[in-house]
Amino acid sequence: MRMNTDALVLKVTDTGESDRLVTLLTSEYGVLRAFANRAKKINSRMHGATQSLCYADFSVYKSRDSYIIDDAVAKEVFFGLRDNIEKLALAQYFCALAVELVPEMEPSREYLRVILNSMHLLETERRSNDFLKAVTELKFMALSGFMPDLTECPRCGNDPQGEMYFNIADGCIYCKSCGGGERINSTVLAAMRHVCSNPIERMYSFSLPKQDEVRFAKVCEKFLLSQTGKRFKALDFYKSLFQ
Ligand SMILES: [Zn+2]
Repeated sequence: MRMNTDALVLKVTDTGESDRLVTLLTSEYGVLRAFANRAKKINSRMHGATQSLCYADFSVYKSRDSYIIDDAVAKEVFFGLRDNIEKLALAQYFCALAVELVPEMEPSREYLRVILNSMHLLETERRSNDFLKAVTELKFMALSGFMPDLTECPRCGNDPQGEMYFNIADGCIYCKSCGGGERINSTVLAAMRHVCSNPIERMYSFSLPKQDEVRFAKVCEKFLLSQTGKRFKALDFYKSLFQ
């Protein structure tokens, strides 16, 4: 079986003297691990396209128990991220999220579009790191079955105004009187609703004041870590850069 798909290289592991094992986020087949033989050689056709954070068109076939890449043509390389340690660390965290959350062998175009859009905005510095991190985390959660319920306070049925709480364990908002969770305000709630309810091409088009953006970033991260029950080394590394 031969498969042609565009994909982002999430992770690269060297195997043997000249081969690479490449973890791809494909648009058609979810996360896929495939060998790129001789790709470490500088004169290989696939050398550039099988590097970390490269977006490329891949041709892959199945051989016994493993997948083999027999061609790869780079489309976008995100060079700008490699010169900035914070941006690079954040991009690697996005890749780690994809490895954890994207199913194998299922169409994953939306996850791929989120990560490519976020990396593009990160590279061109059109949005802050905090903003892109939060939007990416929340959309990934929504896509992978952890959509929070942001419609109303489930205890009293009111649409919360002003001060309120986002409960990361329950994945819902509580009004001030029903209480319980991370304190947020209506600006942060509007941001979360915007990301969850809009298609990817529109989900980045909003902004919020710096202090609300910080809050938005904090609750999205806590929500993701709580719901998935995972730890991400790439996230720990990213955060260690600010300590
Ligand atoms: Zn309530």
